[in-house]
Amino acid sequence: MRPLIGLSMDWDEEKNVHLIGAAYVEAVEEAGGIPLPLPSTEDEEVIDEWLDLVDGLVLTGGVDPDPAHFGEEPIPAMGRIVPSRDRTEIRLARSALRLDLPILAICRGIQVLNVAAGGTLYQDLQSQVPGVIKHYQAAPRWYPTHEIEIPPGTILARILGGTSFRVNSFHHQGLKGLAPGFRMSARSGDGVVEAIEGPGRYVVGVQWHPEAMWKKYPVHLELVTHLVRAAAG
Ligand code: MN
Repeated sequence: MRPLIGLSMDWDEEKNVHLIGAAYVEAVEEAGGIPLPLPSTEDEEVIDEWLDLVDGLVLTGGVDPDPAHFGEEPIPAMGRIVPSRDRTEIRLARSALRLDLPILAICRGIQVLNVAAGGTLYQDLQSQVPGVIKHYQAAPRWYPTHEIEIPPGTILARILGGTSFRVNSFHHQGLKGLAPGFRMSARSGDGVVEAIEGPGRYVVGVQWHPEAMWKKYPVHLELVTHLVRAAAG
């Protein structure tokens, strides 16, 4: 049996549709998992039943988490929020951590994971971090536009087989205070946190989009392959 990997979905309230980027689904399949997209829901029992079913979890990219979840008022440069998706993903993340389910959190996902575990965010890097580089690229999705440094001895350094990479970048927010029990496992030259690792079998968050890069740069599929492998164990 291939491991069942839950993937959080976006929710478009105006069009009344749940959405998942095809690249996430394809990456999980390629890595040997069975993708199971999980829509936003107001029913907590539904979320808890999903967590009984799945062997691992991908928190996907999307719009900004509501800063109320980390005790802040919104600044003017804060983006769109989807309240029901916030609540669904925060419950998914907290329960998955408690159950020691393997988690891969991507872009918005790393931010949701950090907030769910008690961390905080910069609501907008450009207005809150002096000297910040461009983190919302105007280049093809697969194309790496900035450098990251990975500390030796991290899960990330082992999985990717190196300490220096170039990655794509589609975020205007970033991690500020790391959640207790988590550590930084990549940052860009301007000091912005680009990856974290948490306690458990495999709890990894990345600020870039590996699912959009692996066809050109196969090493990035390793992040998903290791999630599926941890989920199988
Ligand atoms: Mn970046």
